[in-house]
Amino acid sequence: MLTEINSLSWQDIDGMNLSESCYLLPIASLEQHGRHLPVGTDDFILRSVLDRLKEDNRITVPMLLLPAIHYGNSREHLAFPGTVSLSNATIVSIVEDVLFSMKARNIKKLILLNSHGGNTALLNAHIKEWKQKFSLSLFVINLWDSPFFDGVQPLIETPASLDIHAGEIETSILLEAMPALVHRDRISPAADCPVRLKPYGDGWFSVDLSPGNGVLGAPSKASPEKGKKLLQYCVDRIVEYFLEILSN
Ligand SMILES: [Zn+2]
Repeated sequence: MLTEINSLSWQDIDGMNLSESCYLLPIASLEQHGRHLPVGTDDFILRSVLDRLKEDNRITVPMLLLPAIHYGNSREHLAFPGTVSLSNATIVSIVEDVLFSMKARNIKKLILLNSHGGNTALLNAHIKEWKQKFSLSLFVINLWDSPFFDGVQPLIETPASLDIHAGEIETSILLEAMPALVHRDRISPAADCPVRLKPYGDGWFSVDLSPGNGVLGAPSKASPEKGKKLLQYCVDRIVEYFLEILSN
C-alpha cells in the first residue's frame, strides 16, 4: 500500500506502524527529449509508474511516498531549450536534508526511485556514505540501469544499448501513458538517431551526438502496445524489489 505522505496529518503518520514502514523518494529530471517528447518525460514516466504502484495490491506493507524531486542532473542536455539541471552538489544536499529528517524521526528504511540516467552514478556513489551518516537502510532503484532493465530487450526492436534517450522505450511509454503530449508528426525514421556510447566515460553531451535533434535512439519504432508492456515490466520489477526490501 503506497500512500502519498502530503495527504496525511502527523497524527495519521504517527498511527502507522512505522517499524514496518518504508519511505519512498522519487527523483526524475526536466530535460530535452527530442523534438517529439515533453521535457518532463522522465517525471511523467515516474508518475505513471507510481500511479500503477499505488493500485498494486501486491504491496501490503504501508509505504509512504514523499513528494518527488522533479529535477535531476541534466548537464548533458543543457544545449537544448527547456532543460533545467541541478548540480551534483545540490542533489546531494536535497537528499541529505531528506535523510536528516528521516533520522530525526528514527525512520529505518528509505528507497530512492530514480527515472533519469544522469542521476544514476551520483546516487550509486553516495549510498554507502549516506547509510553510515544517517544510520538507516537505504536502497536505490535506477529505472534505466543494469540489471533493472536487462530483461527489456524482448519488448523492443532497437538494441537496448542503442536506445538511450527519447527513443523507442521512452516514446512507447509516453504513447501509452500520456499520448496527448507526444508529437507524432515529428517522429520519422529519418529523425531516429541510435547511438552507441563509448565503453569508457567521456562526459558526452547530447548536442554532439545528435545535433539539432537530441534523440539517442529510435522513436519511429515506438508504439503504445510496447509502452504498455514496458510500463508493466517496470512495475513488476519494482514490486519485486520492494517486496524483497520490505521483507528484511
Ligand atoms: Zn528520459
